[in-house]
Amino acid sequence: MNAAILSQFQDLFKGQKNIAIIGHKNPDGDAVGATLGLYWFLLDRGHNPTVVMPNDFPDFLKWMPGSDKIVNFEQHTTQVKEIIAQADLICTLDFNDLSRVGNMELLLSESEKPFVMIDHHQQPSNYAILTWSDPSMSSTSEMVAHLIEAWSGWAGLTQAIATNLYTGIMTDTGSFKFPATTAKTHRVVAALIEAGTPHSKIHQAVYDNQSPGRMKLLGRALENMVIKQEWQTAYTFLSQSDLDQCDFKKGDTEGFVNYALQLEGIKFALIFIENKSEQIIKISLRSIGDFSVNDFARQHFSGGGHINAAGGRYAGELSQAIEHLLKHLPAYKHQLHEAK
Ligand code: 5GP
Ligand code: MN
Repeated sequence: MNAAILSQFQDLFKGQKNIAIIGHKNPDGDAVGATLGLYWFLLDRGHNPTVVMPNDFPDFLKWMPGSDKIVNFEQHTTQVKEIIAQADLICTLDFNDLSRVGNMELLLSESEKPFVMIDHHQQPSNYAILTWSDPSMSSTSEMVAHLIEAWSGWAGLTQAIATNLYTGIMTDTGSFKFPATTAKTHRVVAALIEAGTPHSKIHQAVYDNQSPGRMKLLGRALENMVIKQEWQTAYTFLSQSDLDQCDFKKGDTEGFVNYALQLEGIKFALIFIENKSEQIIKISLRSIGDFSVNDFARQHFSGGGHINAAGGRYAGELSQAIEHLLKHLPAYKHQLHEAK
């Protein structure tokens, strides 16, 4: 990070006591890792930070240092309102628009407190007095690591900070393999390991700790996969009854969409997941190369994200959501064919 941004951070945080740190709805490893990494750093520097999430996060992240202190808006609404009312500064991490906090959106958009954004998604909205947005970054957790390095040197890393940031980088880079993983990312990771990150244990805790239900659900997703070779696209789906029969828990479908990209010749992958209680179909989109699923999700599924990983939603039936894809896909034939 450059010196000008660092000095803006330092000026803004100076003398501020209560700092609310907020992640996005359905927090993933990066949202939890980045917020908790910043939490421990600010605590060490004498601030009084609190991490708030719009709703609960997956069980496979519940070992992360400090994760037991996260306050969940869905379960503790009054407490979160109080935290926001008392905050001197509100830091939003790993999202680019207030619509990404779900039911907390009104609370945040009505707040007159100063906001800081730290994020790596494209097209950031303009709600913060300090917006540090860098879509070239692998993860928000990597950004927090750069902030700490610039602010206090790697001496500022504790094991708790490092463990959280490592988990965020690992999950957002698909274990250091997505294109946004750079030499700089690996230098950060080296520093995190030097600070005592139990990296092998983290891999086990996140990836090798699966419930039988999740494994069964993955089987369903693989079985349901449809390959549209002509458009270099593969999609799959899970109905509410698939989820119910496999004892679905939050986070269970994480990563399923990536399997379709392992198919030869496939550049574009989608998974459609029915959510009967919210009456929507949640869609995850992934691509290889320069085909932008961010654009596709924005155009057709009221969503967005990054060039190779995006999400969106469809209000209607599962079959209609898939028909919607199949209606629009042919127009992308050339673009998909040309994508490198
Ligand atoms: P996932 O498919 O894992 O839910 O999300 C992939 C990426 O797309 C994430 O970086 C996430 O922030 C973004 N994303 C997911 N859902 C939405 C959405 O509804 N709107 C926008 N703008 N981005 C989303
Ligand atoms: Mn992220």
